[in-house]
Amino acid sequence: MRSLLSIVVSSLFLFSCNTSPNKTVEDDAPRLVVFISIDQWHRDLLKRYQEHYTGGFKTIWEDSRFYGNAYHDHSATLTGPGHSVLLTGAYPAKTGITGNYFYDRQAGEEKYCVADSHNQVVGSAGALDKAGVSPKHLLVPTVGDLLKQANPQSKVFSVSGKDRSGILMGGKEADGVYWYDKSKGELVTSSFYEEQLAEFIQSYNTTNPVDNYNPKAWRRLKPESFYLEHTRQDLFAGEYLIDNKNFPYQLAPKSSDDTSFYSMVSRTPFADQYILDAAQYIIKTQDLGQDANPDLLAIGLSATDYVGHTWGPYSQEALDHMLRLDQFLGQFFRVLKQRFGDDVVIALSADHGVQPLPEYQAQQGKDARRVPKMQLIDDIRAIESWLRQEFELQKPLVEMKEERYPFFYPQATLAQKRRFVEEAEKLEYINRVVISDELAMNDKISQYVAKTHYQPRSRDIYFVFKENYLVSRSLGTTHGSIYAYDQQVPIVLMGADFKPEQVSKTVSTTDIAPTLAKLLGIEYQGFDGDLLP
Ligand SMILES: [Zn+2]
Repeated sequence: MRSLLSIVVSSLFLFSCNTSPNKTVEDDAPRLVVFISIDQWHRDLLKRYQEHYTGGFKTIWEDSRFYGNAYHDHSATLTGPGHSVLLTGAYPAKTGITGNYFYDRQAGEEKYCVADSHNQVVGSAGALDKAGVSPKHLLVPTVGDLLKQANPQSKVFSVSGKDRSGILMGGKEADGVYWYDKSKGELVTSSFYEEQLAEFIQSYNTTNPVDNYNPKAWRRLKPESFYLEHTRQDLFAGEYLIDNKNFPYQLAPKSSDDTSFYSMVSRTPFADQYILDAAQYIIKTQDLGQDANPDLLAIGLSATDYVGHTWGPYSQEALDHMLRLDQFLGQFFRVLKQRFGDDVVIALSADHGVQPLPEYQAQQGKDARRVPKMQLIDDIRAIESWLRQEFELQKPLVEMKEERYPFFYPQATLAQKRRFVEEAEKLEYINRVVISDELAMNDKISQYVAKTHYQPRSRDIYFVFKENYLVSRSLGTTHGSIYAYDQQVPIVLMGADFKPEQVSKTVSTTDIAPTLAKLLGIEYQGFDGDLLP
């Protein structure tokens, strides 16, 4: 693939010599690259219901270059870090996004990964009463940033169900980054990008409100017997219950001034439909892919994550969501194909997977358990207390900052730290304890942690829990571990450049950005990943 500069140079040459009428230089780079992140999209969600897909997921199975052995091969399998990896091609240790929240050592406080007190969230009616956000904590450029630097005429947009996914994929140079605000039910941005919300988005908020997508109740698409046959009963132990606990879910305001249902809408497939329509609107109104300058649009579909956290990935709700998302994506792919033909590349992946509900795993015969978060804190305090006596320390050996981030006291010796590790690893729910002094070890677990560790924002001690042990939530489920259920996500490439094929080679999510950058003619050496095979 030639660089943008060489595209421009050879374009002039071809134009003046008129030697190649059937092959224009724009054929080299697609006019538009669309990257879709489906939040919490574990590979198994695609595979498990394969025969029932008739829309976009069917297209993926039949017409894409599909990487079924793709992993987030780091330990921060969370939304902020995961999205920071997808379009930078760098591990969290380099993106600086080490968690959704991190402990800033210098400031001595916890920070949200896209927090920025010098900026404001901006909506249709001006600044919203919310904490400001921006990509200021992101330490490396996104593919969009590199594209804008190489060719300012290219357009870069990002639209998402969440602020952190939209911002961390959009980067710093984007022409527009928008996300769904759960309290207003409309698209908003940050003053980092725009002092006032762009008129075309204001207009979208007015003419195409999320209410248009809200059927006022979420019911099953098919008869319940289908769900019982292909997954499990609607109400299952461990589900995080909302209102009436199972289908159908009411999505209507409880009074004329009630806006709380906008948050519930974000937990349904209709929120993804809304974001995909907003993406189409951006493509159309901003003329993406209409000239020789290649453009990039990043889309974050967040509902899968909310559904998974609440009901688990093998719930009836998750199945229904997948059936509907299959339809929405099918429609979206058709529109792109009609508009751009072979001049568009569509790539998909996810920021992380998810652990099934431990109750469901246990029913499947696995040693799966919930461990209350307080148990971990109590156990650490107990170990710390007797080691302090053993070493006759005047200060605590381990301090849990904000009850979440474990640090050793500054004068702790390596021998003392190792004693702590030795004792903590005896806890029945712990697999490994990795300390920041010993990250460069020759084993997978400490390497996963090393790819996540950025000293100014990282803890001293990492607790790696046993597989299928969920430490934190009393209901619902989550992700964030080093196990396949959290690390394994699909990577999908579709477009004229990609021969449909199921690739079995193991690849990393850090390989997506270098691959897209090459397609766009960007030369950049800073990626951690390689080109996808
Ligand atoms: Zn996520």
